[in-house]
Amino acid sequence: MPLRITQSELEAYLEEALSPEEMAAVEAELRKRPELLRKLAEINGRRDAGVHSVGEIWRRNRISCPTRPQLGSYLLGVLDAEHSSYLKFHLEVVACRYCQANLNDLEQQQQEAGEAVQQRRTKIFQSTAGQLRRNP
Ligand SMILES: [Zn+2]
Repeated sequence: MPLRITQSELEAYLEEALSPEEMAAVEAELRKRPELLRKLAEINGRRDAGVHSVGEIWRRNRISCPTRPQLGSYLLGVLDAEHSSYLKFHLEVVACRYCQANLNDLEQQQQEAGEAVQQRRTKIFQSTAGQLRRNP
């Protein structure tokens, strides 16, 4: 049973006039229901013609960026489903540039770390193979 969210609640949300619990509840519903997001965009569009995207509204009203360790866990795929869908939403729908840049950076780091491990393994393998040859 989806939570009923009225027009006036959405307006209050835009004005950040709800309690933190209510803000969180509305935010959770918005993540699940694209039609609600569109409604929010409409309300906001009527108020301020300068705002064009849902992402813009979101950034303007909520600064809910995940931390760098959270982004790292997201990359490794070790977050629970809810958490991971929140980050996906933040990165792909909100398209937060800051977090996207952070994620790219982490991705590169993980890749470099992976290559270093591979090189170490190769070296160990070679020296082990060398010793085996010396001591038959
Ligand atoms: Zn962000």
